[in-house]
Amino acid sequence: MPKKPLAQPKEKEKEEEPKELKIEAKVDDKAPMKKGKTPQLLRGFRDILPDDQPYWDAVHGVGQGLAKSYGYDRIELPLVESADLFARSVGKQTDIVEKEMFMFPDASGVNVVLRPEATASCARAYIEHGMVDRPQPVKMYYEGPMFRYERPQAGRYRQFFQMGFESFGSPDPVVDAEMIILGNVLYNELGLPVVAHVNSLGTPENRTQYKVELVAHYRKHKNETCEDCKRRILKNPLRVLDCKEEGCQPIKESAPQILDFLDEASKEHFMKVLEYLDEMSVPYVLTPHLVRGLDYYAHTVFEFYLADQEEGRRQTALGGGGRYDGLCELLGGRPTPACGFAPGVDRIMSAMKEKGLSGIVRQPQVFLAPLGDAARKKAFPLFERMRKAGIDATQSFGKSALKAQLEAADKAKVRYTLILGQKEVLDGTIIIRDMESGAQETVDNSKVVAILQKKLEKAV
Ligand code: AMP
Repeated sequence: MPKKPLAQPKEKEKEEEPKELKIEAKVDDKAPMKKGKTPQLLRGFRDILPDDQPYWDAVHGVGQGLAKSYGYDRIELPLVESADLFARSVGKQTDIVEKEMFMFPDASGVNVVLRPEATASCARAYIEHGMVDRPQPVKMYYEGPMFRYERPQAGRYRQFFQMGFESFGSPDPVVDAEMIILGNVLYNELGLPVVAHVNSLGTPENRTQYKVELVAHYRKHKNETCEDCKRRILKNPLRVLDCKEEGCQPIKESAPQILDFLDEASKEHFMKVLEYLDEMSVPYVLTPHLVRGLDYYAHTVFEFYLADQEEGRRQTALGGGGRYDGLCELLGGRPTPACGFAPGVDRIMSAMKEKGLSGIVRQPQVFLAPLGDAARKKAFPLFERMRKAGIDATQSFGKSALKAQLEAADKAKVRYTLILGQKEVLDGTIIIRDMESGAQETVDNSKVVAILQKKLEKAV
């Protein structure tokens, strides 16, 4: 039989062959990693330390719980995406794309970025996996790090964490309202009273008319604005309203308001959203110049702030979102109404800490203290037996002396400590020590899990 010729790689695959990587890293004398010194964190990056975990767990726990209750299914999205995805969705003249992307060529020379946000990724996934053919709306939840090369300052990092709720396929204002209501519940459950700043950006036609007036207003103040505003008013006028420069704020405040340019249907959509918020007593304020920095928004936009933020203190949003009906089409998919909300984990955690709130602190019930090598070998399987039986046990097998282990048990505030010495290993027994009374009893090792379960049930 003639041998089939080996399939030739397709042209596209050939192109994607990795080239030899030449790493010519710029050597920065001011960089933290000076020769011989201990490497340090990059500017704008941070470690989420073990002490932060109670807050981390609380925030994600509430986020995940709400995602389940409100019917958002979990999606994991890649950290690295094509640069084109964000240029086309977030917009070329936005701060994020112009200045803040961690972008670099991969080994095949294609420009990739560390994702600056995940709504665009979620829309890409929705299109790529044909989710438009499923019953709508398709609701998805994600969490993870985002990367923006911003100037680091309080509450602003270059790697920060978001949770995200996205709903694709429904134009109904109830979806916009659900995002804001869900946000309000999320912050309140974490002990943070908030106020939602809300606005409507209407349709593309409404914005075209609005932009004419906005440009006229900024032209009048041409000499007072920053260079970015001068450039943006020509290329992408709405983006001047994102400007954070002090000097530009009075011009922004006196600018025309988009709400005056909404058509009847857009006004009605927005009024319905507000009616749902009123019904649920969600605190909100109309914020006429809120445009949210990304090009893909339409109709409702919102941001959450602490309700009791001190006067005069710089406000940082704890999360934000809005409707993005045009996004899927922009990315080559079918026109799909959609809406989303992304709370910022880092800022929520620091607000909780500042308010003296506590996160979720784990409280183990049992400490296992083996004495000597033979006991340690028996301790591992016992520890697993307890874990599988649902007993929250802890240990510090790295410590050997009984005194040190009892101190660790005290610190962990457990109800019982199990002591396993040489003698107990030989007898097949174990000592249960009541940490409150100090009373000890010796029991059969094979029965200790059941005995503990009973004791702990009684103690509840
Ligand atoms: P955005 O994607 O810009 O709408 O951001 C949504 C939320 O993410 C914000 O309200 C913040 O809570 C958080 N966030 C955005 N950028 C940063 C950053 N550089 N550092 C920390 N949190 C951020």
